[in-house]
Amino acid sequence: MFSKMRITKSTENCLEQIEKLKEELAQADAVVIGAGAGLSAAAGFEYTGERFTRYFSDFEVKYGFQDMYSGGFYPYSTPEEHWAYWSRYIYINRYMDAPKPVYDRLFQLVKDQDYFVLTTNVDHCFQKTGFDKQRLFYTQGDYGLFQCSRPCHQNTYDNESVIREMVEAQGYVIDTDGRLILPEDASPEMIVPSDLVPQCPKCGEPMSMNLRADHTFVEDEGWHLASERYAEFLRRHQNMKVLFLEAAVGFNTPTIVKYSFWRMTYQWKDAVYACLNYGEAYAPDEIKKKSICINGDIGEILDQL
Ligand SMILES: [Zn+2]
Repeated sequence: MFSKMRITKSTENCLEQIEKLKEELAQADAVVIGAGAGLSAAAGFEYTGERFTRYFSDFEVKYGFQDMYSGGFYPYSTPEEHWAYWSRYIYINRYMDAPKPVYDRLFQLVKDQDYFVLTTNVDHCFQKTGFDKQRLFYTQGDYGLFQCSRPCHQNTYDNESVIREMVEAQGYVIDTDGRLILPEDASPEMIVPSDLVPQCPKCGEPMSMNLRADHTFVEDEGWHLASERYAEFLRRHQNMKVLFLEAAVGFNTPTIVKYSFWRMTYQWKDAVYACLNYGEAYAPDEIKKKSICINGDIGEILDQL
């Protein structure tokens, strides 16, 4: 009885918050979206379970990995095997379409607004969905780019064609919809041919992914331009009615999106903060009155907006 009452109350509260968010979206001069890993997970980019087994069952058997992350961190003894693993990983998470239309929903919500996106996601989903490239800042890199692992220079390189060659060399077929398919009864190779192993065109050292994992991360020209555009967008709007819309950002790397959104909401008179998160929707006391917190599945919340 008690729990039922509690559920009813929290559902009512949730609906109220959704109505409030609709109003703020309609009234906002600008919307700054901050997105984290949970958004891609909600779009169906899961790194465990059936999706992991479908593409990595051979690595699961050989090494006992339970999810894509652990296989990504493993120190393989040869670069041929390293790239066999990583090419599948990159292909399915960067070049295949998201199974569920979560990003599309978000795009429909803001496409006619003055918006900007700040994200720690590296899977390119915003661009693939149609978000304006000039209004995006990918702070942590992109699975679709290589860089020198040292790095000896600050350029990045598009990796789509070589990643395709690597997965095809393992026996996979890419169908007309871009899906990665293993022909029936075939078992994939767990190495790529040595001549596909990427090397820096300047120093010959191995290439790595352009992902912020440590101090070797390359911030190329595109990264700096996006960073400037974001700063400029904030400068132009700081005295206006800005909605900071945080979507599925966890507490793993809270400084980039979450803490900066809190700080600006606190400092900017007319700013509003909205936190959409499954189980972790929260705003500190200092900005509570200017905040909308909605706990729930991000896909379902977006459906209701
Ligand atoms: Zn180099």
